[in-house]
Amino acid sequence: MTTENKYIHNALKQTHLQTKRFNLSGFSISGLASYHLLPELNFAVDMGECPLTAIPIDHVFLTHAHGDHSRCLMRHHSLRKMMGLQKDAAYYLSEKIYEKACQWIRAEAAFEGVPEYRIQIPNLIPIKTDEKIILQYRKDLALEAFEVSHSIPTLGCTLFQYKKKLLEKYLKCTTQEIIELRQNNVEITQEIYEPLVTFMGDCKSESLLDKSSIWKSPILVTECTFIDDNEIEMAQKKGHSHLNKIIAILEEKKNEIECEKIILNHFSMKYSEKHILEALESKLPEFIKDKITVML
Ligand SMILES: [Zn+2]
Ligand SMILES: [Zn+2]
Repeated sequence: MTTENKYIHNALKQTHLQTKRFNLSGFSISGLASYHLLPELNFAVDMGECPLTAIPIDHVFLTHAHGDHSRCLMRHHSLRKMMGLQKDAAYYLSEKIYEKACQWIRAEAAFEGVPEYRIQIPNLIPIKTDEKIILQYRKDLALEAFEVSHSIPTLGCTLFQYKKKLLEKYLKCTTQEIIELRQNNVEITQEIYEPLVTFMGDCKSESLLDKSSIWKSPILVTECTFIDDNEIEMAQKKGHSHLNKIIAILEEKKNEIECEKIILNHFSMKYSEKHILEALESKLPEFIKDKITVML
């Protein structure tokens, strides 16, 4: 194994990307592990590995149940307890897999010899799609999940900056008038949701066409498991994205794309870093090259 291959296969080797609003650290190689940490936003997506830097993060969104995305969820929970963190982290996951997640946690605890009466289910929050929920410990952030097409139920999510703004017509009111309006239960504010980042989760390329609001996200993180020309059919069969199809969609959406950065990750572990970078260099059209970054 060359040094290069060791690098791409070391799931605890974090990659770091800086965006205008926050830092994104993590790792994502198909089949090995995927996790994304956004410390400034106190938010993480997936827990296929759990480095110590993930421990202080209070909100974890789980895209789906595949082990390389989920297997360290309980490790996150138990390391927090071991390190004396009192607060229960909030684990957001699809309502479709909530019951199974509880069974899995019970089975794992039983396997470790924890007696039934001592088993504690962590703070799992089952969520519905296409509904905005305010994060448990960050009232200025909201989360919206949406379904994507993969081999098992999978969610993508957008994280929003959330605020309440005074309605235009009340902007010139005095403080006293505002107090009176409030006392009379007049709704004087409107809710504002500004997208910050979108994670697609594991999905077929076509999922990028299902929700047009993803293109308004300043940062879009999307999987690109396969890149070679002879793998288009396999990508489809396995419920993953192929670079050629992503490029076709980017061409189609050219005039809609407001993203500052589009981050590709979750490449197949069979490729070397060199092979991935060369494929991107030769295939990506000029108009989008500057926006594309990889998690490698
Ligand atoms: Zn995966
Ligand atoms: Zn998967």
